[in-house]
Amino acid sequence: MILMNDFRSEPVALREAMYDAARRVIDSGQYVLGDEVASFEREWSALCRTKYAIGVGNGMDALEIIFRALGVGPGDEVITTPMTAFATVLAILRTGAEPVLADIERGSALLDEDSVLRCISAKTKALVLVHLYGQLGNMASWKELCDDHGIYLVEDCAQSHLASIDGDIAGSFGVAGAYSFYPTKNLGGVGDGGMIVTNDALVTEMALQLRNYGQSHRYSHPMVGLNSRLDEMQAAILRVRADYLDEFTLRRRSVAIRYDREIENVNIDKPTIPKDLASHVHHLYVVTTTHRDRLAEYLRVNGIQTLSHFPIPIHMQPPCKHLRRDPHGLAVSERHAETCLSIPCHPQLSEDDVSKIISTINSFEV
Ligand SMILES: *Cc1c(COP(=O)(O)O)cnc(C)c1O
Repeated sequence: MILMNDFRSEPVALREAMYDAARRVIDSGQYVLGDEVASFEREWSALCRTKYAIGVGNGMDALEIIFRALGVGPGDEVITTPMTAFATVLAILRTGAEPVLADIERGSALLDEDSVLRCISAKTKALVLVHLYGQLGNMASWKELCDDHGIYLVEDCAQSHLASIDGDIAGSFGVAGAYSFYPTKNLGGVGDGGMIVTNDALVTEMALQLRNYGQSHRYSHPMVGLNSRLDEMQAAILRVRADYLDEFTLRRRSVAIRYDREIENVNIDKPTIPKDLASHVHHLYVVTTTHRDRLAEYLRVNGIQTLSHFPIPIHMQPPCKHLRRDPHGLAVSERHAETCLSIPCHPQLSEDDVSKIISTINSFEV
């Protein structure tokens, strides 16, 4: 089976370095908020070209902590997309604020600007841009929209590790960015992990307290916080894996470019590869077809695993059916959910794997 992710075929040298890192942590006797986390925070903020990085428990907590650090809470609205991981919206709900859902663009499946404009109200406090599948949209224009309306721009970078435009990195465009290091992400640990990146000193100060029970000094708790600390084991492993990120991203990109050139099937639409190659890190390669379920089954019987991201849009999930949304509806998101199929696009695919995936897709008949 060609898998969606295949950690066990990663380079032996990477695995050995991970064993060494794990041993280093165990031998250090320091397991929470020690040197590994501090070092990884420094290294990740340097890679993101932000002043600060704060390690947290996971990507969802990174978002919740950003919102709470910004004072987003009951009575506020936060606009985002229904085409995302449930965690994006759950993080908003957990603050007591109301998520408001805007529709996406056909093609990229990123938020549609006109739809976002229709969602803005006097209560809107923030816009969460999800860099879906690894791609950055027109960040200059989103920044301008948020500045014009006096709302915070928050980036969900869980799928877009170090995607960039003109050298500006995902997470550095808005007030803060939330990274996830869940194992299947472009940079993932051997468990949960997350990071907030920001240039804002106040957000940083608040986030450092919020991740650690709202503690300012030992046993002093000026606010109601969370327990959401990145642990030393994950930080040490992520530091090792970060050394491979560039190489792995280039490999993902070359797989995506082969798909773009060689997949030819009148029943299947391919995603667009942006002209600015650096603006897309190809976390997922997502085709669309009205014969989605049949294509998935055809690939499965031919030894190729697939997934859908995401088959149920947020507003069709039971806890979210009541959420306010674009008055014109969310038709593009609904159609995307019914037609999207993610095919393997990870760094361990061989050229033969890629050829097999392409020829199988090209031989699919309806
Ligand atoms: C994975 C993901 C998250 C959540 O990250 P966790 O570390 O699993 O909490 C949030 N948003 C998006 C877009 C994701 O893909």
